[in-house]
Amino acid sequence: MLQATQPVNNKYYLFENFPGSNLLSAFSMRDSGNMSLFYGDTGSVLGNRKNFFELLGIDYQDLICAKQVHAGAVRHIEESDKGSGALSCANAIADTDALITGKKNIPLSIFTADCLSIFLYDSKTRSIGLIHAGWRSSREGIVSNTVRLMQEKFNTKARNLCAAFGPAIRDCCYEVGSDFSGFFPSGGLINRGGRYYLDLAGINKSGLLAQGLQEKNIFDSGICTACHTERFFSYRKEGARCGRIMSVMMLR
Ligand SMILES: [Zn+2]
Repeated sequence: MLQATQPVNNKYYLFENFPGSNLLSAFSMRDSGNMSLFYGDTGSVLGNRKNFFELLGIDYQDLICAKQVHAGAVRHIEESDKGSGALSCANAIADTDALITGKKNIPLSIFTADCLSIFLYDSKTRSIGLIHAGWRSSREGIVSNTVRLMQEKFNTKARNLCAAFGPAIRDCCYEVGSDFSGFFPSGGLINRGGRYYLDLAGINKSGLLAQGLQEKNIFDSGICTACHTERFFSYRKEGARCGRIMSVMMLR
């Protein structure tokens, strides 16, 4: 079952223990550079992606990128979408914060710098999902929306789904206003000394459990981006112009 991730040459981490083989799931580290054509220093992004994908052994021109909008929409990706957003943001998949596919050799990507990336894998139907879960998307139920679309498109059974959480800002660092308790009435806000902190991973784990995933099939890398800016980009620590981490997932 899912266990620890391993950093490779300070360039990226792999989730190595999804059950079944022929699955790539990885996220980039700071040393791989900015991966987003929308944010940060975009001048070197295509070169950064090319280098990162060469390490992973896939063609960066096949990449699927979304124009992420911190909402709840999920898109089913087909062969004809291949390369959308790979070389230009103009043809990225519009207004989408989660991608699913049942097709091989289509690398899905999500970009984050504090938001949580969530990798979903159904070994029975050989299908995957990749989610951008910030607080707004989490409030919109992005994990529930994604699991439901996988059920609809691939006949996925939630009990067969495995989930892995990438790096994100954690409740050690994610201070928010008390008004967030109204956004997440079923929990996720932690009060420490009169200050409020959001447990983004916990909220999304609860969402997956509510959809029927088994707790033993949910693995959290536990990495806090704000605590580890030497390895990851952090919007909270560095500001809006910081680079973005790429999470990538592909069936082989
Ligand atoms: Zn932290």
